[in-house]
Amino acid sequence: MFKNLKEFRDYYIDHEIKIVDFKIIDLAGRWHHLTIPASRFSEKILEDGIGFDGSSYGFLTVEKSDMVFKPDLSSAFLDPFSKIPTITMIGNIYSLGDETKRFEGDPRYVAQKAEKYMKDTGIADKALFGPEFEFYILDHISFENSSNHMEVYLDSEQAQWNTNKRDIKNLGFKVGHEGGYHVDIPADINFNLRNSIMLMMEEHGVPVKYHHPEVGGPGQLEIELSFGGLVEMSDRTMLSKYIIKNEAIKHNKTVTFMPKPFVGEAGNGMHVHLQLFKDNEAIFYDEKGYSQLSKTALYAIGGILKHSPSLMAFTNPSTNSYKRLVPGYEAPVSICFATANRSSVVRIPGYAKKPDAKRFEFRPSDATCNPYLAYSALLMAMLDGIKNEIDPVKEGYGPYDVNVFDLPEEEKKKIKGLPKSLEEAAAALEKDHEFLLEGGVFDLGIIKDQIKRIREDFSKINTIPHPMEYEMYFDL
Ligand code: GLN
Ligand code: MG
Ligand code: MG
Ligand code: MG
Repeated sequence: MFKNLKEFRDYYIDHEIKIVDFKIIDLAGRWHHLTIPASRFSEKILEDGIGFDGSSYGFLTVEKSDMVFKPDLSSAFLDPFSKIPTITMIGNIYSLGDETKRFEGDPRYVAQKAEKYMKDTGIADKALFGPEFEFYILDHISFENSSNHMEVYLDSEQAQWNTNKRDIKNLGFKVGHEGGYHVDIPADINFNLRNSIMLMMEEHGVPVKYHHPEVGGPGQLEIELSFGGLVEMSDRTMLSKYIIKNEAIKHNKTVTFMPKPFVGEAGNGMHVHLQLFKDNEAIFYDEKGYSQLSKTALYAIGGILKHSPSLMAFTNPSTNSYKRLVPGYEAPVSICFATANRSSVVRIPGYAKKPDAKRFEFRPSDATCNPYLAYSALLMAMLDGIKNEIDPVKEGYGPYDVNVFDLPEEEKKKIKGLPKSLEEAAAALEKDHEFLLEGGVFDLGIIKDQIKRIREDFSKINTIPHPMEYEMYFDL
């Protein structure tokens, strides 16, 4: 929003700004914040930054935990959720050593380095990312106060059949189990809320492609963004989730992006559409190629499929992620590619036929990822595939233009599966991370921190008795 301090000062006076709020990202992808009176925002803060303890952010490999963040003026926005006029901006993280320098593990720095590395390779000068956010919306107040939509969530499998429990007269215009896709009002009770979220996103520099009710019924929603660059889209992803969560709370609702919040219902994915350009030419397009994809696009797909188990440590970094990646819910489980097939890791949308629209979609990712790291890792896998000419057809990754789940067992066995747990993803990243280190984009420290973090999550969940275990083993 601002190019320099003067622009900030002019805006500050014109809009009577009272507060400046800074957002700093942690390793997991959560924004933390710190706030100052707007009158104290100065050259000194821009130059010297503000100190904080990096170890509480999951950055363990820093020698000393003392770090500073320096605000990025260009990321500033007028915060729609603060009652008092507030400018919010993102901080870039620096480590304090003999000299203050960019912290190699700052996720935003990784994304900036990835964009630079892409240009240095000469392969492409622009990478575009188009994420799709799926999430569930729930009543925020209390279980007692909630509509009967909540009841369906709490016990989704039972509630749909248990008509005794439900008032038949009350069933009109209610969305049933897995019946939410594109339902119209009045059944689409979240229409107004989604509209206000969409407009707020647009006002804050996040162009939206469209929004709609999603399959998981009732209450699963989806917002897709128009495409943007790596750092740009990572910032927009953070801002989108911030707006979605906070606008929902204002309406006494709460949202969750958790990949599999309800048993028996569709999970929440965050598919990402990917495109590369060079000199404004779409290098993924070839009129004669499979599904109009160029060789370059196929190699990019090859890189992604080859590295997909290790990519998952960044794109699907929660224990819950792996509860979504099961057959039967339009979520991928097989390492393969296909046109218009939703059971594969990479899908080529059949409707995108023009050169500039030609793209493919990475389907495993979910919104528990740190977008800076997930998008950077995807770009690195594509560049690795292109550099090393990894041909996905020769590697046996497809194309499979049928539903993989419907293939005969013999055929199915040939297709490799995605990691089945966070531990498997951690082990895959431990083995396969050279492609991320290229050009110094990912620092070994951040890879180690990530492996440590997700291993801790895995063992934490694995050592807690699961409620279902009482049903299965209590009486043995
Ligand atoms: N919810 C599905 C998933 O988990 C995707 C559904 C769709 O967009 N077709 O990935
Ligand atoms: Mg979609
Ligand atoms: Mg969807
Ligand atoms: Mg999609």
